[in-house]
Order: sequence, then C-alpha cells, then structure tokens
Amino acid sequence: MGDLLSYLTQQLPGAIEFLEKMVALESPSFDKPLVDEFVRFVGAQFAAMGGQVEFAHADKFGDHMIARFTGSSSERILLLGHTDTVWPAGEITKRPFKITGGRAFGPGVFDMKAGILLIAMAIDALQKVDRGLPKCVTVLLVSDEEVGSTSSRTVTESEARPCRAVFVLEPSLPGGALKTARKGIGRFALKAIGRAAHAGIDPQNGVNAIEEISQQILKLQKMTDPVRGTTVTVGVVQGGTRPNVVPAEAAAEIDIRISSMEEAERITKMIKALSPQLPGARLEIRGSINRPPMERTAETIRLFQLAQKVAQTLGIALKEGSTGGASDGNFTSALGIPTLDGLGAVGGGAHAVDEWVDIQLLPHRAALLAGLLSERL
Ligand SMILES: [Zn+2]
Repeated sequence: MGDLLSYLTQQLPGAIEFLEKMVALESPSFDKPLVDEFVRFVGAQFAAMGGQVEFAHADKFGDHMIARFTGSSSERILLLGHTDTVWPAGEITKRPFKITGGRAFGPGVFDMKAGILLIAMAIDALQKVDRGLPKCVTVLLVSDEEVGSTSSRTVTESEARPCRAVFVLEPSLPGGALKTARKGIGRFALKAIGRAAHAGIDPQNGVNAIEEISQQILKLQKMTDPVRGTTVTVGVVQGGTRPNVVPAEAAAEIDIRISSMEEAERITKMIKALSPQLPGARLEIRGSINRPPMERTAETIRLFQLAQKVAQTLGIALKEGSTGGASDGNFTSALGIPTLDGLGAVGGGAHAVDEWVDIQLLPHRAALLAGLLSERL
C-alpha cells in the first residue's frame, strides 16, 4: 500500500488538473449536449488508459459511459458513478474552480466529479505500480442519477449482475465515512376530485376537493414513523381555481423514505388504501417505490470490514454510516450484489454552493479504492 500511496501522491498535480477540467465542463442533468460533451471527454481518458469504452444512448439525458478493463482474475467489479450534476449551465462563471486552504471548490466537484477522478487515479495506480488490475473492472458513469436514474436503471442493473461487488464513488459522509445503508424512496401523487359550485349561490351543491385533500394530508403526515426510519412528506399541494368557486380538484405530491422493503410494502399499502372522507368525493392515487432501500446486509458489512482493513494500512480509521438520500447503489444492492457506497472524496456541501473536496486526501481515497480492488472479495 505504501508504494501505491506514494505513487498517487506524486500524481496529485496532474490529478488536480483533470479535476479542474471536469468541473469546467458543466453537466446539468437535463442538458444533453453539455453532458454528452463531458462524458466524451471522460470516456477519452478511460480509453487512453486502455479501457474498452462504449456509450449507452439516452434520448433525454446525456449518454451513459461504460469502460471495461481486463484484470488478472476473471472476477469482475463494478465501479459506479454519475456524470450529471444539480447545477445549471453558467454556474461555473459564478463559481469557477479554485483551491484555497487545501480545499477544491466548484460546481459538482464533490458530487461527484472527484469520485470520477478517484476511479481514474486508482486504475492508473494499479496499472503503473502493480503492473495491471487484479480483477476485471467495469466503470459505469450514468447521466441521470440526480433526477431519478429513469433512463439508466436497466443499464446499471445489467452491468452490475455479472459483478462480484459494486463500489459506488458517491461522496463520503462527513469525515470520509462510507455509506452502508441508504433509505429507499417512493413517490406518490394523490388527486382529490370533488364537484365545482358557486361559493355564494349554491355551495351546498359543491364537494370541496381542497377540504378532502386536507384530511388526506393529515393522515399521510401521520404515517411518518421515526422508530421504523420511515418518513412520509407531502411536499407539493395544488388546488382550486378562484376564491368564489368550490374547488373541484386538488392534488398533493408525496415523498416517502423507508429503510426496508417490508416497510416499503406496508406504507405503499396504507397509501393505496386511502379512502375519501367527504360524501361525493373521489381519490386517485398513483405512484410506487422508485428506489428500493440499500439495506445493511451481512455482505455489505463484510465489504466494509475489508475497506476498514485497507484503510488501516493507510493510517485511516474508517467509519460507516447511513443516509436518507438514495443513489444507484440502491438498485445494485436490491439485486443482492454486495454494494459499498460513499467511496468518493472527503469533503462536504453536496448540492450546496459551498461544496468542497479535501485535496490532500485524494491520494488516500484512491489508494483505498485500489487496495479494495486488490482484496479477495
Ligand atoms: Zn451523487
């Protein structure tokens, strides 16, 4: 590990240059031309390192990049990340890439352009110091992770299936801790349908859809159960047309977070079972679990312990934690493939304007990933 770390530390100036270029090439989720340009740039880097690079076409989003590397054993590992960021085009002119006090700043630097950098650094170090990869590696960078991964989910699942393990290069938890559990997400839309009437002339003929949905919202909010790790949040409400009209329609958008599939089923059932409270009102309920929870399985714990062992040789006491946010690791973990997440950079402020990455720890994080790839999984 000492050789790997000293090589990676020597390579740091070049690595920072690569990071700066990646941050400068903006890649907002919904801007296909920009994301395509970014993903071609990154693809060229992996191709130059000997990867077999291909792109999976996406209509509405940037193309997804797959780079395959062969290793000395036939076992295959998936290194998973995303190219899109939450920042709109032009953000870079307000907040250009900069380094101050050992921290790199810029849109998307932490979530997760530094994660892409770490993949490249780890593969390069194994090739140069260890003369080749110990295992076959697939690098998959999807382009719609920040907006639900609708176009990439099948690609992620099919690339993950033949793999022994999945390492996700999403940002770490504060202090560099890995993510061994993530909540799952469900999205539901509830519509209440009543009957319009003049609020002054014949209100008795109306059925107030806003009154109906208000009662449903109170029921939904009460489904939150902190002990089970479940939250139900009504985040958007709309209804009515004018103050003097009994409203015929009202709608609510609901976000649910759950820690287990069992809980996902329980909550889904409760939501689907909502029934109208006002005579003459109707409800329409749509939605489902969008991302299954990433549960802390025995296999995940085993992978984390291996990572801890590798980190120890680098002088790092590695910790683990969980998060209410989901990633593409939720999909691979739900397939039963051991998944370890949060292997990206040490930093903070994901999705915030003060987003930053610790520069001095980049070689350590790359060495951690390289070391993990060298372990018997
Ligand atoms: Zn991310």
